[in-house]
Amino acid sequence: TSKQRLLVVANRLPVSAVRHGEDSWQLEMSVGGLVTALLGVKEFDTRWIGWAGVNVPDEIGQKALAKALDEKLMQRCIPVFLDEEVVHQYYNGYCNNILWPLFHYIGLPQEDRLATTRSFQSQFDAYKKANQLFADVVNEHYEEGDVVWCHDYHLMFLPKCLKERNSKMKVGWFLHTPFPSSEIHRMLPSRLELLRSVLAADLVGHFVSACTRILGLEGTPEGVEDQGKLTRIAAFPVGIDSERFIKALELPEVQDHMKVLKQRFAGRKVMLGVDRLDMIKGIPQKILAFEKFLEENPNWCNKVVLLQIAVPTRTDVPEYQKLTSQVHEIVGRINGRFGSLTAVPIHHLDRSLDFHELCALYAVTDVALVTSLRDGMNLVSYEYVACQESKKGVLILSEFAGAAQSLGAGAILVNPWNVTEVASSIGYALNMPADEREKRHHHNFKHVISHTAQEWAATFVSELNVTIVEAQLRT
Ligand code: UDP
Repeated sequence: TSKQRLLVVANRLPVSAVRHGEDSWQLEMSVGGLVTALLGVKEFDTRWIGWAGVNVPDEIGQKALAKALDEKLMQRCIPVFLDEEVVHQYYNGYCNNILWPLFHYIGLPQEDRLATTRSFQSQFDAYKKANQLFADVVNEHYEEGDVVWCHDYHLMFLPKCLKERNSKMKVGWFLHTPFPSSEIHRMLPSRLELLRSVLAADLVGHFVSACTRILGLEGTPEGVEDQGKLTRIAAFPVGIDSERFIKALELPEVQDHMKVLKQRFAGRKVMLGVDRLDMIKGIPQKILAFEKFLEENPNWCNKVVLLQIAVPTRTDVPEYQKLTSQVHEIVGRINGRFGSLTAVPIHHLDRSLDFHELCALYAVTDVALVTSLRDGMNLVSYEYVACQESKKGVLILSEFAGAAQSLGAGAILVNPWNVTEVASSIGYALNMPADEREKRHHHNFKHVISHTAQEWAATFVSELNVTIVEAQLRT
């Protein structure tokens, strides 16, 4: 076949693998938005390279897993094996404890700072080592003409590893988180090395200001030039597979969920929050704003409920455990204060929902509340809009979420730190007349269905191909 091959390299393979014996694995493909987007781009023959999320210390197990992936998932997933110590230092350490909080402008807790400073070098070494292991697997599977697309802050070293070995390889890198301003990025001891290695790619996501300030490089509308090599830099806002959500609403099981929810909350307006339980999502801020709203509007107390789905994440990290108990405490206080014998104002769930339950929730709720303190895009806001064609609910959206750039016209934008502003926006949303809701929803809906994940992926790869042709013309 003449389809161009696309090698997607990301920290995690989109599969969950459970071992059932020395050489037997049970595999399940996860179907998130990114997966659908990348595997659904029909112009390309897409392969995925990444860590399977399990420690497989023995060779028999590794071979069996590679074979199982090869057979069951039609060669679409190729595993990278990382040992436990590397995972600990690279993934838990450097990625999640250093880069993640830094890129979201959230400092480390005081007591962790010194420990992090001490272990910095060994974690950075493990990060580089892990990136090299990913590069080895890419090299093993690379064929001339393939496009290699590296994803996210886990793999900032990968473009350099790949280009050092083969300067002709077409390499793109995309960051799914915000990139911090240079004032933040300059705190990283490895600031230069990281930026330089990302610039080894041919095409990169947005980080012009950090490059220009920290490397002292010339930024142009086309990109950044470092030592005679131009790296093309552009913004590619991601989207969702909106069709998948819109179609799901027709399914009988989703309709059943909707019916149950409508009955359960009849007579009350329902507000919805869906977040991983992460510091960046501003969940305490959201709940405090809701408390303030109830305080100031006692007539609403029995007429509104907030459903907060808080998907557990990184549960072995103390900071996240602390956040969980903090949120529980606030929810308990508010329910104690404003609840009655028959109803409480907040339903807080520490769990994830399956796709059908989630779609039903998106469809029946009156207001969605997104209060991220920083967020790359926030796909939840897109998904909510996609499911609201009949209800035309209101989206309250943090101005610090990437989605504020695209859904700002239809949403009510808020500063999540300003509890007064969020509380009054809740009141505004709950009282909004139908024609205004319709107008706002229509705006956002048009955007969501016309800027899909599939289109995002196709645009990035075709831009990468163009970039390389242009570079060849220049030399
Ligand atoms: N999600 C999910 N199960 C749940 C709740 C959410 O699969 O119980 C999904 C949701 O559909 C969305 C993703 O998790 O696609 C969250 O993406 P977002 O960009 O909002 O935030 P992130 O978690 O990537 O920071």
